[in-house]
Amino acid sequence: MSMSNKALPEISGGMDTTEAEWKQRLTSEEYHVLRQKGTERAGTGEYNSFVAPPEGGVFVCRACNAPLYDYKSKFNSGCGWPAFDDDLGTVDRHVDNSFGMKRVEITCKNCGGHLGHVFEGEGFTKTNERHCVNSLSIKFVPGPAE
Ligand SMILES: [Zn+2]
Repeated sequence: MSMSNKALPEISGGMDTTEAEWKQRLTSEEYHVLRQKGTERAGTGEYNSFVAPPEGGVFVCRACNAPLYDYKSKFNSGCGWPAFDDDLGTVDRHVDNSFGMKRVEITCKNCGGHLGHVFEGEGFTKTNERHCVNSLSIKFVPGPAE
């Protein structure tokens, strides 16, 4: 998908940004989720039941502004967090065996920020994937993707 949305903010920060810099740039809640792999409480995030405006828009990484998800890939999974069935190719996957469960963690490819987890085979949409993302990890930027 081409990303020519003129409203998109410039990407700022990346893998070489230090933890001290992230602490300055992010709120303590954002830092906890993005840098310490925290999880916001179900049903509390600002994008959980968010509906995009008619002109559409893109969800970018709240840490570095990299575009992650088109608004068209957002769907209502009822799980308590924003859900997307496809990403823009800017999301990395890592197998996460913490808490005795095998899950696949998703992070921002540009800065390594923690987004959430991806689940497969649930049959919600035709891609058969649910990216379960913390609202605190993303930011909606309205505007046509052209
Ligand atoms: Zn990022």
